[in-house]
Amino acid sequence: MNFLPLIEAKREGKILASEQIQEFIREFTAGKIPDYQMAAMLMAIYFRGLNTAETTALTLAMRDSGDVLKFPKDPRPLVDKHSTGGIGDKVSLPLAPLLACLGFRVPMISGRGLGITGGTLDKLDSIPGFKTLLPATQIIAQVQKVGCVICGQTETMVPADKKIYALRDASGTVPSIQLITASILSKKLAENLDALILDVKFGCAAFMQTKAHARRLAKAMVALGNKCGTNTRAILTDMNTPLGRAAGNWLEVKESVACLEPRSSRGEEALIEKTEIGNRKSEIRMSLLTSAATPDDLRTLVLDCAAHLLVQTKKAKSIVGARKFAQDCLNSGAPRKKWDEMIVAQGADLKAFNQKLALNSTANVVVEVKLGKTGFVSKCDARIIGEVIRDIGGGRLTKESAINFDVGVDQIAKPGERVEKSGTLCRVHAADSVSAKSAIARLKTAFEIAAKRPAKNSLVVEIIS
Ligand code: URA
Repeated sequence: MNFLPLIEAKREGKILASEQIQEFIREFTAGKIPDYQMAAMLMAIYFRGLNTAETTALTLAMRDSGDVLKFPKDPRPLVDKHSTGGIGDKVSLPLAPLLACLGFRVPMISGRGLGITGGTLDKLDSIPGFKTLLPATQIIAQVQKVGCVICGQTETMVPADKKIYALRDASGTVPSIQLITASILSKKLAENLDALILDVKFGCAAFMQTKAHARRLAKAMVALGNKCGTNTRAILTDMNTPLGRAAGNWLEVKESVACLEPRSSRGEEALIEKTEIGNRKSEIRMSLLTSAATPDDLRTLVLDCAAHLLVQTKKAKSIVGARKFAQDCLNSGAPRKKWDEMIVAQGADLKAFNQKLALNSTANVVVEVKLGKTGFVSKCDARIIGEVIRDIGGGRLTKESAINFDVGVDQIAKPGERVEKSGTLCRVHAADSVSAKSAIARLKTAFEIAAKRPAKNSLVVEIIS
């Protein structure tokens, strides 16, 4: 194909026809368009944008550049969640087995971390024996049998995105709303889902720094997902503070397993029942329940995602009812057992996993970080914590970097919590005392202590459906 006129047309702000987009994606995937020409097209798109029809055509052409998962007919809806990423964001790990126990099928195709943002596959790689690269036949068989799988994209799924994402990374064209939308949704649509919940994060450690940018991205993805036949909703969530109390690959697996442990639900139930007076009030109550100041922000976000998917697939009428259903299921301990079933199905050595879980730390050095001040935590900067973890070996500076799964930060004190002069703000797990020392100095700058308890920030600030 003669690609140059299309690059020139987009450079001049013209609209491309769906057939033209389909053709150039096909040709590029087949290696018939050179990278330098595609990079020029991506830059033209970055500056000129794509309209809705063009973005739809691009997304579907990318989805169809490889295999789309085909599942047998089954009454259990196919669902998934996507997060734009943040520090301590381990929601996928407890969510997949919970959803399987709620009667869903969950083909959760996940990615690796880059920079300060952690990746689900890296976390799972810290489990002895666990395999994240599975052929499509095994993904489908496991979803049918166990109900859930968390694994990487196969070689033949959405190859266009793999090639285009690498070029965007190298050509400064990642932050385009339409290119991000096409990239994320092409992969999710290749899972052949009935419903999708998107967790679009904003804040100092998020891809989208402001709420307004996150909202624009969420709206674009929700509109396109629904247009392409997958019931899609988004929640906008705060990523100024890490999610949960642990960040770092193995430490996040540990916290995810703790989130799945059975527990009594009496306190939470009382809170929910009092507010079951119609949807509007329910949503306000949901936001209160998801306050970032509660130590249970992880559990709350897991339940929120499950509740939305129950409503989206019409398995529940109201968010409040759905949340109660999900909470009872989580409290029952069934998802904890499902977790074991899932990891064993993917090759994990359960005995070695349980032995590792019982350890206080798997890193060589563990040090408590203290500020020597009494008061209330008024700031816990997720970006600084993410940068420290990356720099002590827990994250990647380049796609090829090796990762140390054992390093990270846990026992994080969250905004609103009181600390005593001798109290711990977090613990750093490091490979050696030199890296621990530099980490401690930087981690101290992540926290601020105030005399008065700060106002609570909501974790989930908006729902876009
Ligand atoms: N994640 C993706 O998969 N693609 C993007 O473009 C950005 C984040």
